[in-house]
Amino acid sequence: MGYNLTQKILLNHLVSGTLQPGQEIAIKIDQTLTQDATGTMAYLQFEAMGIPRVKTELSVSYVDHNTLQTGFENADDHRFLQSTAAKYGAYFSRAGNGICHQVHLERFGVPGKTLLGSDSHTPTAGGLGMLAIGVGGLDVAVAMGGGPFHMVMPRVVNVRLHGRLAPWATAKDVILEVLRRLTVKGGVGKILEYGGEGIKYLTVPERATITNMGAETGATTSIFPSDEVTRAFLRAQGREEVWVELGPDPDAAYDEVLDIDLSSLEPLVACPHSPDNVKPVREVGPLAVDQVVIGSCTNSSYLDLMKVAAILKGKVVHPRVSLVIAPGSRQVYAMLAQNGALADLVAAGARILECACGPCIGMGQAPPSGGVSVRTINRNFKGRSGTADARVYLASPETAAATALTGRLTDPRELGDPPEIALPERFHVDDRMILPPADNPDDVEIVRGPNIKPLPVAEPLPRSIQGRVLIKVGDNITTDHIMPAGAKVLPLRSNIPAMAEYVFAAVDPSFPRRAREAGGGIIVGGENYGQGSSREHAALVPMYLGVKAVLAKSFARIHRDNLINFGILPITFIEPADYDRLEQDDVLQIDQVHQALQDGADLEVKNVTRNFTIKARAQVTPRQVEIILAGGLLNYTRRG
Ligand code: SF4
Repeated sequence: MGYNLTQKILLNHLVSGTLQPGQEIAIKIDQTLTQDATGTMAYLQFEAMGIPRVKTELSVSYVDHNTLQTGFENADDHRFLQSTAAKYGAYFSRAGNGICHQVHLERFGVPGKTLLGSDSHTPTAGGLGMLAIGVGGLDVAVAMGGGPFHMVMPRVVNVRLHGRLAPWATAKDVILEVLRRLTVKGGVGKILEYGGEGIKYLTVPERATITNMGAETGATTSIFPSDEVTRAFLRAQGREEVWVELGPDPDAAYDEVLDIDLSSLEPLVACPHSPDNVKPVREVGPLAVDQVVIGSCTNSSYLDLMKVAAILKGKVVHPRVSLVIAPGSRQVYAMLAQNGALADLVAAGARILECACGPCIGMGQAPPSGGVSVRTINRNFKGRSGTADARVYLASPETAAATALTGRLTDPRELGDPPEIALPERFHVDDRMILPPADNPDDVEIVRGPNIKPLPVAEPLPRSIQGRVLIKVGDNITTDHIMPAGAKVLPLRSNIPAMAEYVFAAVDPSFPRRAREAGGGIIVGGENYGQGSSREHAALVPMYLGVKAVLAKSFARIHRDNLINFGILPITFIEPADYDRLEQDDVLQIDQVHQALQDGADLEVKNVTRNFTIKARAQVTPRQVEIILAGGLLNYTRRG
């Protein structure tokens, strides 16, 4: 039996384990990326390991999230990141140079290599044939130090694309269809490997839209083969020499298969407040729209924005609509400026933002109260836009542009023939905003402004955990719920004491006070606890507040790993109905934790308040047991 593409790359990088789904494997990491919202912490963690230079083939530190500078905090963080990159051997992509995933695809991605990124949309690089995985910053810090990355071998799903997209159906509609079928939980424990004859009609930026938003299914990553389409993209970026042909063997086996007929797809939209709440655009309307946002790492490529410019050319946005556009990179921005498309966007009334995450991470452009915002981004969780009662719909750039013109959610097929836009023969290449590491690292001094606070480190796990249920939450709680983003909180990413005031701010603002008064405790969650971003602060800050365990029906992958990395015990109910028997403020006691974890035995959770006992399970590998007992990955790694 031959190998699929995922297996081939994993075998090339395998440090330990076998490729049996469910078994723990360790792989060598070739490249890492960090962004500023997670990078400050990752570099503080890297420093704490005492390793003088990064040991990967390539590491890049991006600034793209916290680019609004309404106070000194973000600017302080940028200087810290610039100096750490120079000293420790990473490239530094300056603020304004673009969104990490877009820039990485353009300038650094290499087919067949492994990429670990402290951002959940790292799988974007899978559009180029990389095995690219999003994790917490601490895992990236360990990889920068030369350590392998450990994960449980996922099941590999072959997503076979048949036929060709109809006019106005787009790559965004492909991934929305995948989400409609798999839901936000359906990819957990899986890698989505794309194939089928339909892939040859999709360019690399289109493939990257699909792999980017595969993160919303909970998948470990998504990947496309590296073929002549990949080669053409790399040639146009002036990087053809890194191209290799890569694909599955003809007789490759997969754990599952998902068939999608591209020719049957039509413009789709994900309705509030979940990326899997997907419907055809024509079924949702009429819906008056207040704001249209075009950008983010999902849909801000040259191709995307050229199509938008062609749709808007010679017209003007509807009077009710505020249209904001954030190009994905300085390369895209420069090319739009050079070929006149930028003038078309401006003439149509678009508000052009800098090349950064911007509205996607709640950094400006919050919609009006109760407003409707149509966005090309990847997440529409309640409140993420910065307006608690706004309703966000996720759509393709074409649907978004058509909507901006009419002021109502619009199926772009109403516009007639779609614009014909092809990839350029040659992209505009100018890497002067990417600073290489210093040649003389000893002379580089790390710049630490007052926003850079010392790194909190967890205590080893006690043998017996006793604590109050600090909060009981429902299903699909996101990392945005646990640790909100937005212009107020994001600048505090390297200041954990200040950030602790915002844990569960939108769910229960009294949580931090109660956690402090109780000296920590336990969180009870429903299904898919911690879905969403790779935000390790959603584990780190609860750890700082003394949270010792999270007892949930199920966990999202990255968040569960982050809890382990910060020494918090993630356990699941054996009987999901037991969730209903627990209440906030109940005191729970879990005895002989160490023994049970080491034996792989179930844990007895005693409800001291109500006097009954339930069973829970920690599905952890022997290595993860050691990490939890040590009080997290940093303690474990330092111990050697
Ligand atoms: Fe930035 Fe949004 Fe992409 Fe995250 S999802 S990297 S915030 S653009």
